[in-house]
Amino acid sequence: MAKTGWNELTAKQYIGDFKSTYFGYSLIESIRANAASGGMISTFIIDGLRSKRFDGALLCRSYIENNEVKTQYYIATQEEEIAQSQGSKYIAVRFGVDAVPLIKAFPGRVAVVCLPCEATILNNLRSRDEAFDKKLALVISLYCGHNSEKALTEMVLRKLNPKNKPIKDYRYRFGHWRGNLKLTFEDGEEIVKPFHYFSDYQNLFFFSETEGMQCIDQTGFHADLSIGDIWSMDMKSNPIKHNAIIVRTDAGQAAVDSVNEHGLANVYEVPVGRVCAGQARSLPLHHNVNARAWAGRRYGLKLKPNSDPNLLCWKN
Ligand SMILES: Cc1cc2nc3c(=O)[nH]c(=O)nc-3n(C[C@H](O)[C@H](O)[C@H](O)COP(=O)(O)OP(=O)(O)OC[C@H]3O[C@@H](n4cnc5c(N)ncnc54)[C@H](O)[C@@H]3O)c2cc1C
Repeated sequence: MAKTGWNELTAKQYIGDFKSTYFGYSLIESIRANAASGGMISTFIIDGLRSKRFDGALLCRSYIENNEVKTQYYIATQEEEIAQSQGSKYIAVRFGVDAVPLIKAFPGRVAVVCLPCEATILNNLRSRDEAFDKKLALVISLYCGHNSEKALTEMVLRKLNPKNKPIKDYRYRFGHWRGNLKLTFEDGEEIVKPFHYFSDYQNLFFFSETEGMQCIDQTGFHADLSIGDIWSMDMKSNPIKHNAIIVRTDAGQAAVDSVNEHGLANVYEVPVGRVCAGQARSLPLHHNVNARAWAGRRYGLKLKPNSDPNLLCWKN
């Protein structure tokens, strides 16, 4: 059920501590056209590299190997490398194993784009390692309802491509509002389906990562900026798909001020209630999952009750 009647106090219980909240979209046409939403994540990265606030950005791209979708972290140092990461990848990634060593080995300051649980990993690492802390110039968290095991992508691909024809690219979601998915074959053929062809399974937690079922952080409590979609009906008719942006730190605020100053984006402040209303159904799903842990026991699901006040950063 969708929650209504948001105010600053109730909002903080669901999205954590914040300084200010915005809606916005990129003014770089090619970036917005290729984005999962309004292209703000990529625009913050472009602006930070141009302004030399950081030397590289840790991003996640997908590629095809053995006719399967794979993901790869990389550190982009050039603007041209950023578009490769655009779009959401709803497939399990291994941040601690694959991304953290890349960040540590990079000889400069880094912006990191990651999921909420990964922003918490970074927060833990930086709290006990001063050099690592100095390396992180900006942490941007995507909103994340939950991520899925690769088995979900494999199942949807089998449905789309039962004869296992050679594929060239798979895009989970593109286009306005809920959007479409697209499978591109080596021979140039394309299959486009509404995104719900994939997301119906995902929303019903088919092949969900277990951690995702017990997670209370949908928006990235430990990021400088948290960025997601706005699913309010008044945005459906807006021809420009927007991002919601939660600013939590001075570094996040500087990034917002800078993209506006440089004319790279249109970012305007909105009351926090509008940001929460854009996730009115999913925020309550992540708020105190004790009931889910209790009910899950009956079905053999071992979930941790999760209302540990230490996990709720705004109470620390
Ligand atoms: C697992 C997952 C769950 C999501 N859940 C929600 C949700 O509950 N509510 C909601 O509103 N939106 C959700 N999103 C979508 C998210 O809001 C959009 O990706 C974001 O708004 C895109 O903004 P953009 O247009 O600025 O990004 P773009 O400019 O298209 O850039 C996308 C960025 O996301 C990064 N990225 C993509 N996939 C991953 C990944 N798996 N791990 C780490 N980084 C990645 C890329 O490196 C790139 O920098 C989810 C996305 C993912 C991947």
